[in-house]
Amino acid sequence: MQSRVHEIRREFDRDLAGARDPEALERVRARYLGRRAGLLTGLLRDLREVPSAGRAAFGKAVNDLKAHVEEALEAAQARLVPGSAREAPIDLTLPGRVQRPGASHPITQVSALIEEIFLEMGYTLESGPQVETDFYNFEALNIPAHHPARDMQDTFYVEGGLLLRTHTSPVQIRTMQKRRPPVRMVALGRVFRRDSDITHSPVFHQVEGLVVAEGITFAHLKGTLAHFCRKVFGKGIRIRLRPSYFPFVEPGAEYDISCIFCGGSGCSRCKGTGYIEMGGAGMVHPAVFEKVGYDPELFTGFAFGLGIERIAMLKHGIDDIRLFFENDLRFLSQFPG
Ligand SMILES: [Zn+2]
Repeated sequence: MQSRVHEIRREFDRDLAGARDPEALERVRARYLGRRAGLLTGLLRDLREVPSAGRAAFGKAVNDLKAHVEEALEAAQARLVPGSAREAPIDLTLPGRVQRPGASHPITQVSALIEEIFLEMGYTLESGPQVETDFYNFEALNIPAHHPARDMQDTFYVEGGLLLRTHTSPVQIRTMQKRRPPVRMVALGRVFRRDSDITHSPVFHQVEGLVVAEGITFAHLKGTLAHFCRKVFGKGIRIRLRPSYFPFVEPGAEYDISCIFCGGSGCSRCKGTGYIEMGGAGMVHPAVFEKVGYDPELFTGFAFGLGIERIAMLKHGIDDIRLFFENDLRFLSQFPG
């Protein structure tokens, strides 16, 4: 019986090879798979007659042949009858392919807003290296080697006496060295500190502003900060300055805005004070002017700085700074601007 199977297989292969048009192909199909007289159909019928001992082996041989015949017929059909190849079925229940438009990172968006506000006021945009020398990061900013302020900032030092800048203030020095007053500049960029928790990241972004000319006063500083904070957070914002100390300014101040959550009446976000800390500012220290060759008798100026993440966190109600650096699309896609 097995030899009969082989015989039919050989016959089929020969017949199929000879079929050169769709009609011939149909004849081959009928000869082997025809319901009544098909040779394969006959073989399956014969299965009943096979003694039970050999029935399984014979059944398998016939099934293998049937699979071969059907496959070969299908391939020949695709070849001889154009457009008959079976296409993958279309599953209408599959979800559509969503086009996800890209967007700027929330820090980039806030940076662009800050730049726009200062460019509108006639400031220039400046930048400087992220790997700095001790001179630009500390020395020129009135923070000499023995100064206790250096303990305030835990710095990443790199080879060759260089360091990762701990603030954007070195850009002030580089700009003043290049240019005579009047100077009106902002610098935005990355800064680095050895600090990491829910509100501190070892890398974050700062904006630094500097204005130097004849007759610049503390009132100019306050007016500028108030204008800036209202542009960012809304017209009703009030600012307040508190005395503070930074080596490169005198007098120095920290500035706060009226709480954007409660309007100043006191809530948990402002710890009941009605104010939220924003950053540091002050009048440029005469020692800094001397380092860059400006006459402190002739020129005065103010400087201010603040964290860009801090603005983004307040604006969007984000309470963990680390979210900005994790590149999690579930977070980032919430800022389509
Ligand atoms: Zn509040």
